[in-house]
Amino acid sequence: MERVLKYDVTVVGAGLIGATFALLLAQRSKLKIAVVERSPALLKNEQANQRVVALGALATSLLDEVGIFETLTSEEAFPYTKMFVWDENSNGELSFDAGDYGQDVLGHMVDSMACNLRLQNQMSHQDNIDTFYDFQTNDILVNKAGALLAGEPFSIETKLLVAADGGGSWVRQQAKIFSHRQAFGQVGIVAKIRTERNHQQTAWQRFLGTGPIAVLPLNDNQSSIVWSVDIQHGDRLMQLSDADFADAVAAAIQNRLGRVELLSARKAFPLQSQRAEVYFKACIVLLGDAAHSIHPLAGQGANLGFKDASCLVDLLQLQSTGSLSSAKLLGSYQRTRKVDNEQTDWLMHALHKAYRNNIPWWQVARGAGMRWLGSSGRLKALLAKNAMGI
Ligand SMILES: Cc1cc2nc3c(=O)[nH]c(=O)nc-3n(C[C@H](O)[C@H](O)[C@H](O)COP(=O)(O)OP(=O)(O)OC[C@H]3O[C@@H](n4cnc5c(N)ncnc54)[C@H](O)[C@@H]3O)c2cc1C
Repeated sequence: MERVLKYDVTVVGAGLIGATFALLLAQRSKLKIAVVERSPALLKNEQANQRVVALGALATSLLDEVGIFETLTSEEAFPYTKMFVWDENSNGELSFDAGDYGQDVLGHMVDSMACNLRLQNQMSHQDNIDTFYDFQTNDILVNKAGALLAGEPFSIETKLLVAADGGGSWVRQQAKIFSHRQAFGQVGIVAKIRTERNHQQTAWQRFLGTGPIAVLPLNDNQSSIVWSVDIQHGDRLMQLSDADFADAVAAAIQNRLGRVELLSARKAFPLQSQRAEVYFKACIVLLGDAAHSIHPLAGQGANLGFKDASCLVDLLQLQSTGSLSSAKLLGSYQRTRKVDNEQTDWLMHALHKAYRNNIPWWQVARGAGMRWLGSSGRLKALLAKNAMGI
């Protein structure tokens, strides 16, 4: 007979958001939690994947609460204190300094692979979490008691099924939850570089007519770049020699940091935004990129996922096991998170469009707008605090 394991909550996807959610909930409650991940567990000596995410205060405080933030080395989590944004086609510029808002840092650049490895390690020490890597599942059956995740070599019965399986969410598709998808026709090229001049713990972002480039500071005067460009332009950049690509990066940021040396392979990620029509259906609830993904131009995607995780844990932690999937509870999660996520997505679309419009009068207006924003204390503070997650 097929073996069936029983849990209160099952999380599909042990990425940054799924793993953090599982740990938070496990540590704040006595619920029995399963985490299933289709990939093998990460290994200690796994090659870094040069993916760095800029995380604000809420995200890092959650990583701290689950006991991993302090364990990240300065190579793995590097604080940035300033941000400088400027526009290729106008004289608009904006700068932010953590000190202006009574903070020590604006956020941290976190190596996502290192962070994931620590989260997986922490889950293995958490008594009320069982992790299943390399887990192949082929069906979800929903009934009154919850959901059955049919898998090999066993199945999982759960009262609440949390989809944290990323933008292409298999769980979301099985649940037939529609997701509006919009491709930007762009790729985000990421790579690690070292610059001749010191990066001054500053996140540099220049809006080019072809798309934004961000140079995000890391330890040892290294930086991580995210360069968003149209697909064909991206193909050309990916085909350049290392030296020519490094020169192209230096030119794209107007040589502000001097000569550039490429330290890693380049990777190109297709960029799209996505919004699930609803965040829950019966006992299935969506979290992180499974619910929404946005353009990375302001580095907010994972930060929104951490907010989702925090909100859902707050709602679940005091519930009895019988009411984990109550429509009232999941409806409250949806009401709180959907508005915030969709407003941020809307803002990313607006920024993306505003900076791609190269009509002369618009460029003049854009430059004036940036300078006005720079001098308007309150609105600028609101933007900065939102980005910092405080
Ligand atoms: C170029 C780029 C730069 C970015 N920069 C930033 C930034 O600076 N700051 C920021 O906040 N965000 C940033 N983001 C967004 C951020 O990377 C994502 O929002 C975040 O990684 C989403 O995390 P997640 O855990 O929800 O999903 P994922 O990271 O996609 O994790 C999903 C997990 O589910 C697993 N999985 C998938 N399918 C199944 C299945 N069927 N069964 C079991 N497991 C499954 C996967 O293997 C994976 O482990 C960036 C995105 C891009 C593309």
